[in-house]
Amino acid sequence: MSGKFGFQLQATDGAARTGVISTPRGEIRTPAFMPVGTAATVKAMMPESVRATGADILLGNTYHLMLRPTAERIARLGGLHKFMNWERPILTDSGGFQVMSLASLRKLTEEGVKFSSHIDGSKHMLSPERSMEIQKLLGSDIVMCFDECPALPATEGEVAKSMRLSMRWAQRSRDAFGDRPGHALFGIMQGGVTPELREESAKALTAIGFDGYAVGGLAVGEGQEAMFGVLDYAPGYLPADKPRYLMGVGKPDDIVGAVERGIDMMDCVLPSRSGRTGQGWTRRGQVNIKNARHMDDPRPLDEDCTCPCCRNYSRAYLHHVFKSQEIISSMLLTWHNLHYFQELMQGLRDAIAGQRLAAFVAAFHAQRAEGDIEPL
Ligand SMILES: [Zn+2]
Repeated sequence: MSGKFGFQLQATDGAARTGVISTPRGEIRTPAFMPVGTAATVKAMMPESVRATGADILLGNTYHLMLRPTAERIARLGGLHKFMNWERPILTDSGGFQVMSLASLRKLTEEGVKFSSHIDGSKHMLSPERSMEIQKLLGSDIVMCFDECPALPATEGEVAKSMRLSMRWAQRSRDAFGDRPGHALFGIMQGGVTPELREESAKALTAIGFDGYAVGGLAVGEGQEAMFGVLDYAPGYLPADKPRYLMGVGKPDDIVGAVERGIDMMDCVLPSRSGRTGQGWTRRGQVNIKNARHMDDPRPLDEDCTCPCCRNYSRAYLHHVFKSQEIISSMLLTWHNLHYFQELMQGLRDAIAGQRLAAFVAAFHAQRAEGDIEPL
């Protein structure tokens, strides 16, 4: 691999931006949506199919991979890209969020977090240094700093204390990451819903210096209004010439609102997870394929969609295979959902480049307000 990590901003429309992140493994068009490949797979999809939906980059989860099959084993087998047959860029999270949400017997100290695996109870430690080591073993292109996410609800004092710990961990992450040309390290801004804490966090991170910056501590159950409230000002505290990543977002209207507020990258399990539970996302909103109204409906999920699911299969078939618990149900709905999310991102990129984002967003909301097509 040769080449450098970089970010070229190409156009702005209001606070929204479009550009290209370059990495030795290929370019990432922004605003970008990253499908989640938790356990070295985007569930129900072949990697080439994920690419066919328009994804430039995947997300992998440090917490899951360190426990099974272990980062050391993946490294021996040639790294995560080779292991899962995805040669394009991969971003890995730090493990911090999932160790707090999934592991048991957690003990948080200045050093890091000791915990027991949710799989077999085995004891582990995650620290800034260990997280950097694991993400290096995986061969991740974009590495995230190890940070702490305070459990909600939290007082402003608890949020401040947690943010300052995360800033000390950010410095330790930077030191442990070292100099790795072609690989990027992103810092994570914390500070809850308090502008002064967000600003303090942004200043601490930019003083250390990162290749990109995430707005952390959002999409954790605070609601869209509170999230947009923070996004109205927090991205402005970050350097304009670096990518800005909003972790764990989201629903299509969350994505549109975040992009309007200057976010460049997002990830979420939503399109793949809802594909496995019979939920389809379309321009007209959410469709529950389990509903009996689809039983005799020969029309596709979305008549305007060019994905293989909508080109070749009816709502009646999707209803049948979901009810019969056939594997193809997850495959088809996941493919459609990922296709829809990537098409939405392409629409946003084109609208920003053409200085017509406001009209695009108005049309997006108007079409969703119409709701699903009338039953036959
Ligand atoms: Zn489709």
